[in-house]
Amino acid sequence: MSQSIQIIPEIRDVIVEAGGKDIFKCFQCGKCFSVCPWFQVLATEFPVYKIPQAVKLGVIASSEDKDVIEAEVKEIFGCVGCEACLKECPRGVDIPGIIRAIRRIFVDYGTLPQELKSAISKIQGTGNPLGEPREKRVQWCEGLDVPIFQPGMEYLYFSCCLPAYDARLQKVAQATAKILQRSKISFGILGPNEECCGEAIRRVGSEKVFQKVAKANSTSFGNSGVKKLLTTSPHCYTTFKNEYPEIGMDLEVLHQTQLFAQLIDQGIILPRKTLNKKVVYHDPCTLGRQNGVYEEPRKVLSSIPGLEQVEVENYNRQFSICCGGGGGGLWLDLPMEGRMTNVRIRQLHDTGAEILAVACPYCLQMFEDAIKVMNMDMEVKDISELLLESL
Ligand code: SF4
Ligand code: SF4
Repeated sequence: MSQSIQIIPEIRDVIVEAGGKDIFKCFQCGKCFSVCPWFQVLATEFPVYKIPQAVKLGVIASSEDKDVIEAEVKEIFGCVGCEACLKECPRGVDIPGIIRAIRRIFVDYGTLPQELKSAISKIQGTGNPLGEPREKRVQWCEGLDVPIFQPGMEYLYFSCCLPAYDARLQKVAQATAKILQRSKISFGILGPNEECCGEAIRRVGSEKVFQKVAKANSTSFGNSGVKKLLTTSPHCYTTFKNEYPEIGMDLEVLHQTQLFAQLIDQGIILPRKTLNKKVVYHDPCTLGRQNGVYEEPRKVLSSIPGLEQVEVENYNRQFSICCGGGGGGLWLDLPMEGRMTNVRIRQLHDTGAEILAVACPYCLQMFEDAIKVMNMDMEVKDISELLLESL
């Protein structure tokens, strides 16, 4: 391994104060570098372990050297928060946490990519990263008879911003609502009072805006008498389950694949229609590696008659590679040849599967875009869509 880097004490102190206390624990063995998905895209150009040590925050304060600032911003906002490094580090160094702390400092100085600035300001203004009006948040369920949540209902269904507004992803929320209705699960939605969960902006480093939306959502859940939350996105799932407790929220949270697997086990859902296709499942980092939900999505797929499941050899479950959409990556406009999405979609396509099954709106969007650009012959479907087709 190359020579170790000595961090400047003043810079280290600022990073620690912003929440990156693990910076002391790293002994620069470089193991994180070898598992970071950027290694497969950029080879030696993204040396994870050096970034927190080599960053020069003083340059930002003085704004003297634009090239250095640009290079640092590119590196610091390149991390997709997949946590592959955290799982492999022999010292348990929270590298994504250190990078997030550095991002907080950058955000305080307004030094971040324009696309991320825009997403943060849209969330602040309209409660969603697309800047769509709040009253349109219920558009996805028009004609589906989905009620506003009332006390006594079992689940509050939280669709996530993308399935609420994006025409393709609305189909995922619609499939989910139809499955719940067929299963006679009592559920409702918050409607226009729903705000973005704030996961992506927290990972981008915008802690103040995250705190604002988290408090607004938590208050709405409390006022509505919600006890159980059901999410379509693993990003909403992990934030409600693992991060909202920091602000006092204590609700049961389920990802929809977990509920579907339970309903299948209980015989409440019985997939009958045959789908004679070969399918590969992509483990989203946030659901799999970060929350250990590996088997429920596979159980749902294996309950569908005719569906043949294949795996990406060596790169499944905790070794899955990020779709590139996490940590703000979804909003970054990276050149096509420099995207980690391409590495992953090639692995998935090489299995010979006709269908790529996903359980995350970010993955669906990233992979559909890549398939179009790379002219590949593979369909991307959310597990809810496949399950509904088979009922
Ligand atoms: S694996 Fe852990 S200890 Fe080794 S360089 Fe990476 S963060 Fe540091
Ligand atoms: S979280 Fe993922 S992308 Fe970020 S440094 Fe770690 S391995 Fe690389």
